[in-house]
Amino acid sequence: MQSSKVPTYDRELDRVRWLENLPFWGVHVAAIVGVAMLGFSWSGLGLALIFYYARMFGITGGYHRYFSHRAYKTSRPVQFLLGLLGVFATQKGPLWWASHHRRHHKYSDQPEDIHSPRQRGFLWSHMLWILVKRHKTADFSNIKDLTQYPELRFLDKYENLIVIAFATAIGVIGGAWALVWGYFVSTTLLWHGTFFINSLAHIWGRRRYQTTDDSKNSFLLAIVCMGEGWHNNHHYYQRSANQGFFWWEIDLSYYIIRAMAAVGLVWDVHVVPRHVRAKSVAPGRARLSDDAGPVTPEPVQEAA
Ligand SMILES: [Zn+2]
Ligand SMILES: [Zn+2]
Repeated sequence: MQSSKVPTYDRELDRVRWLENLPFWGVHVAAIVGVAMLGFSWSGLGLALIFYYARMFGITGGYHRYFSHRAYKTSRPVQFLLGLLGVFATQKGPLWWASHHRRHHKYSDQPEDIHSPRQRGFLWSHMLWILVKRHKTADFSNIKDLTQYPELRFLDKYENLIVIAFATAIGVIGGAWALVWGYFVSTTLLWHGTFFINSLAHIWGRRRYQTTDDSKNSFLLAIVCMGEGWHNNHHYYQRSANQGFFWWEIDLSYYIIRAMAAVGLVWDVHVVPRHVRAKSVAPGRARLSDDAGPVTPEPVQEAA
């Protein structure tokens, strides 16, 4: 076991900054007020869902399975585009996200876990943890395989400006209707859909594998989050590109990764070995490394 230190509560670092996170609340308010003013429309909801699922893949296929767990390999341009799609989801940059996520796996549901409902309750794990100063920045010592790329550091540094440009482009092209449904409503849903994996997926559902955390499997969350609802599977064997381990466990992100592999955009897609899936491996042995990163960080290959 690696040594760890539970940070003691610090009023400066751990107090929830309600006012300083006005943009976060502003997106929620703009979604509600916008729909109240424009009225409900099925086409609006359709637009929101298109932007929801497109950007959800930036989080699930990009930030999570690629940047955090290196479950497959890709070229440097596609790596950048995955990072950009993740930035559009408005959940900070790929480096910040991957660093915090690897830390979650390293200490999942232990006192050191940054967003554990067991330790600090539902709301904290769902969203309060991102509203404190301590987690505004990330310690990049656990993502050295990613920080070597200047274009990823660029995405991380300018994610705010990129998001503003993205939302502005939607508004300029499609007007107020598109801005409300395509950005504000879609982003509010996308945030809470993603947050449910940190909160609900550690509380609600079924457990197939005896992991040391409280992770659960949920069909409903798998639909909402493009396969990420198979969270107990994922905590059991983190590096797999498929989180739905069996054919009936729907995993839309994995199908997209497979389609990308079929046309050569990604390769070396790592999937859970049969004997691991069949529970014949002890939980501790199923984890490939303690920091949830690759055993040997491998640089991406240049495009041919
Ligand atoms: Zn988890
Ligand atoms: Zn993970």
